[in-house]
Amino acid sequence: MVSAELPPISDADERARLDALERLHILDTMPEQAYEDLVLLASTICGTPIALVSLIDRDRQWFKAHQGTELTETERSIAFCGHAIRRPDEVMVVPDAHRDPRFAGNPLVVGEPHVRFYAGAPLVTRDGIALGTICVLDDKPHQLTPQQTAALSAIARQVMHLLELRQTNDELKRLAAENARMTRQLLGYQRELEEQNAELAKEAKHDALTGLLNRSGLNKLRELAMASRWHQGRIFSVAVIDLDHFKRINDTYGHAVGDQVLQVVAEEIRRATRGGDYAGRFGGEEFVVIMPDTPTAGARTVMERLRKGLASRAGELPDAVTVSIGLASSRPGMDDPDTIFRHADQALYLAKNKGRDRVDVLED
Ligand code: GH3
Ligand code: MG
Ligand code: MG
Repeated sequence: MVSAELPPISDADERARLDALERLHILDTMPEQAYEDLVLLASTICGTPIALVSLIDRDRQWFKAHQGTELTETERSIAFCGHAIRRPDEVMVVPDAHRDPRFAGNPLVVGEPHVRFYAGAPLVTRDGIALGTICVLDDKPHQLTPQQTAALSAIARQVMHLLELRQTNDELKRLAAENARMTRQLLGYQRELEEQNAELAKEAKHDALTGLLNRSGLNKLRELAMASRWHQGRIFSVAVIDLDHFKRINDTYGHAVGDQVLQVVAEEIRRATRGGDYAGRFGGEEFVVIMPDTPTAGARTVMERLRKGLASRAGELPDAVTVSIGLASSRPGMDDPDTIFRHADQALYLAKNKGRDRVDVLED
């Protein structure tokens, strides 16, 4: 049977096929068992020694799978499949290439692998673009039964499924990578935001001069303590610390020196207290320290340590800096933080009255 010469492929069709192949990322990929299985089935069903999955690139046909030949590609100009793709909905059959003027002089016919018989079922995308064929070849003239032709078409559809799955898979991988990238970016933003929030919270709740809690920070602490009933049944002590004759330091050496003194006092408060304690600057030159799980005796030790620490810094300070400290502790049945604080404030008043530079506890 001699088929009529078909018109050449249009530029648009050529472009569409090359674009589709590009999207599939299939050309020059490694052999895959799934495609090898399908060419084995095709050659077995059609009774031919050779079967190929051939894709038509710009200047070559490239074989994704081959059975019965070691060829991996040939020039496009001599490709039988280059003809087959012009009729996407037909299986092209060349029963005897020697009797077909299109192929009689073809190097694949006159030389290795001496093709006499060819049948190719186009591999057609959903959009109707023929990418190549699954084809069977023989070095003897041959015919296919209608059942074999139908089977070859069925195998062509299976090859297309595999190719489309590859594309879906590629797309899923791309989406997953994109998703991971966006998640990373979002986490980055979130961390940044959290850091900024923490920074803001720190600024809002801490005193700029000393870094201790400020009045708003102390209020927050009180709120949290009340809400969690943290204080109930617990022993804790509160110290209110006030600098002695601080006005004099300011007046004599200036406000800037006064500020330095406040910073030194804050440093010594930090040094004298421990991790679980809370220290704040309550007002101008008044500080407060809350010592959880610390009875009066322990709290007094902490405050004496503070007084010693301050004394040890005398060399750095323009004048003797001393503090008066009022101390109060919770007792069973009397653990309301505001009451304890008020008692500590009254004890401070006592310390001032008794001559300053001392720690006092309110007597019962
Ligand atoms: P007392 O021993 O009775 O506590 O006397 P005092 O001078 O320490 O107490 P007073 O309350 O009369 O003075 C407190 C001074 O603290 C007045 C104010 O100028 C000063 N002061 C308050 N806040 C700051 C501050 O942030 N920096 C400086 N340098 N001084 C401050
Ligand atoms: Mg004061
Ligand atoms: Mg004072």
